[in-house]
Amino acid sequence: MPVRVHIRVSGVVQGVGMRPFVYSLAARHGVSGWVLNDALGVEIEAEGRAEAVDAFVAAISEQAPPLARISAVEVSHIEPIGGESFEIRPSGAGPSPATLISPDVSVCDDCLREMADPQDRRYRYPFINCTNCGPRYTIIRELPYDRGGTTMDRFEMCRECRAEYEDPADRRFHAQPVACPACGPHVWLADAAGTELASDDPVARASEILAAGRIVAVKGLGGFHLAVDATNEDAVRRLRSRKAREKKPLAVMSPDVESVRRFCELSRAEEKLLLSPERPIVLLRKKPGTPLAESVAPRNQHFGVMLPYTPLHVLLVEHGFPALVMTSGNVTDEPVCYENADALARLSEIADAYLLHDRPIHIRTDDSVARVISDEARLMRRARGYVPRPVVLGSESREAILAVGPELKNTICLLRGREAFLSHHIGDLKNVAAYEGMKQAVSHLQGVLEIEPARVACDMHPQYLSTLWARESGLPVTAVQHHHAHIASCMAENGAAGPVIGVSLDGTGYGTDGAVWGGEFLVAEFSRFRRAARLEYVAMPGGDKAAQEPWRMALSHLYAVHGSALLDMDLPLLERVGRDRAQTVVTMIERGVNSPPTSSMGRLFDAASSLCGLRDTISYEGQAAIELEGVAALGENGSYPCSLRQEGDALVIAAEEIIGALVDDLSAGTGPEVAAARFHNAVLDMVADVVARLREGTGLDEVALAGGVWQNARLLAGALERLGATGMAVHAHRLVPPNDGGVSLGQAAIAAAGGGASDAPA
Ligand code: ZN
Ligand code: ZN
Ligand code: FE
Repeated sequence: MPVRVHIRVSGVVQGVGMRPFVYSLAARHGVSGWVLNDALGVEIEAEGRAEAVDAFVAAISEQAPPLARISAVEVSHIEPIGGESFEIRPSGAGPSPATLISPDVSVCDDCLREMADPQDRRYRYPFINCTNCGPRYTIIRELPYDRGGTTMDRFEMCRECRAEYEDPADRRFHAQPVACPACGPHVWLADAAGTELASDDPVARASEILAAGRIVAVKGLGGFHLAVDATNEDAVRRLRSRKAREKKPLAVMSPDVESVRRFCELSRAEEKLLLSPERPIVLLRKKPGTPLAESVAPRNQHFGVMLPYTPLHVLLVEHGFPALVMTSGNVTDEPVCYENADALARLSEIADAYLLHDRPIHIRTDDSVARVISDEARLMRRARGYVPRPVVLGSESREAILAVGPELKNTICLLRGREAFLSHHIGDLKNVAAYEGMKQAVSHLQGVLEIEPARVACDMHPQYLSTLWARESGLPVTAVQHHHAHIASCMAENGAAGPVIGVSLDGTGYGTDGAVWGGEFLVAEFSRFRRAARLEYVAMPGGDKAAQEPWRMALSHLYAVHGSALLDMDLPLLERVGRDRAQTVVTMIERGVNSPPTSSMGRLFDAASSLCGLRDTISYEGQAAIELEGVAALGENGSYPCSLRQEGDALVIAAEEIIGALVDDLSAGTGPEVAAARFHNAVLDMVADVVARLREGTGLDEVALAGGVWQNARLLAGALERLGATGMAVHAHRLVPPNDGGVSLGQAAIAAAGGGASDAPA
């Protein structure tokens, strides 16, 4: 007796080769029926002997194509209708697409083999791709994921490409970006003025220009890069000065792992991350005596390295460069260019030449940045390769929610059911192009996911541009405290229901008392939190300026220890700053002029960095702390003391003793490497101590670590080890950034649980 089943497969199942896979599976198991893509995912009917159908159904999830992420296979029995063949039917459209579109995927080995084969019709074709690789998220305009819904719709397939596209047995069956030199996009070279330069091989010609030390703007997958030979000091300096990017490390692209080993240490986990299909920029420890120019990452212990992820990049780096600088194609602080005309206009003062192509990028997506800490890959910037894969929450949200994130390192998040779709990194909203990028990300994600939010969640900060946008959206608003959102984000990613002891060590966040928070220990659930311990407030003389100028925080923390007597101390800091300026700042603190109170841990790191003589002013966010971590001596076990006192139902942590001991240590001739290590150890001791006290007081055995300070590898690895050794469950971020890039996820999770402060629409 034949049986017939209806099968619904959901998850990331479109654009990943599901239908040809199902087709060949049907042939193998001798079942008849059909398969199609619709707005809900993949729909199948299959008929045959009961055992054959069972085996067929089981194989769908067991043997699924590598890029598929199946979230459910639902099977129901229906009336058999007979039939001999199995066919692939055209896509159907449906009312509510729950289909998950795939992120962009780096070029696969099969495509690389073809591209290197002189007999292949795609020999050296920079846009080769198949169902297992190529652009996805960056070219999709709308669902269902079909050619017409992508930016490839302007290229009519040639006869041969169409034959591959329509052949269920072909590895390009329904690969939407399929193309060849005859019918697909092409690449060309332009001079500084944008005029096309005739060339048989524009990519090879671009490599020659790079070898001559020039700067080439390269259009890639999610936007433009500015490329320059990473071994050429003059060239890298020229790029820095034209880009007005003084010190921030520049990412590099290397042809292969062997090349990377020439200038970086590489653990097995780091190698795996470099080679993963997501191909993020990986922060790797520099080797001494590297062939790369000093100005690639000055005063930094790491290089940010990625491997080529598109065929175009593969062709570009194969010309004997150990590495090319591939930094984002923008003027510093602006978002990356992703359209040809815009790049020609905005990069004209920087690029000597342009390597352009005519496959439009629908949505700008930066390179992701990751770092291996305690043997696990952890994202610091989540974008290309990861977006729009959802984070699956432990419980269902009754309404669809849009969370608009904070203002710096902005991301947005759409939550529907249990799936939270975190957007790509958008950037600092104070930049008007980034602000436009946020609005574009909101409408794009709402469009391709067909989510109509019923509520918007935002930061409590009344002046954040994202908050103002939320208040004008017309939707009911939930305002969420920044560090509560950080902890909720970590809980959500790790499937923790809470309550937890949340350790939010961060730069800046608006507190419920209006102060600048950032060294917070919260007893937190999604629906509420209690501030159980915090750093003692010190002044931020100059307000926002204090975040740019760590010497101000050094004076402020010194003031907390010594009062105005600090001005009479014999400190190198005072020599560098000048006694007059120091006097002015002390006066500001004493009179409370433009000196808001802060409990920020990030600012405490800034103070320590300045006191160690490393960094008095910064040119990029986090620089002072990064350099402090960078110099800290690895084997040093010394520490500094710290005191706690009870104030109401909260513990207050005075950093005075830490700062006092640090200054004494330095004055006694201890080097900055040892002092920096002891400072890190002191912060770890403090965290372990406070968590132990809160554990005793609450009986909670779960900890969540979140906030930008946890990007510090020494701190995170130390905390995971120390807290883990006490038998507590310790949650930290992996796929979601611990910095403000993860805040929108926490906002969404809190709003879904009815937490935060809700208002009716204005
Ligand atoms: Zn491929
Ligand atoms: Zn073709
Ligand atoms: Fe933050």
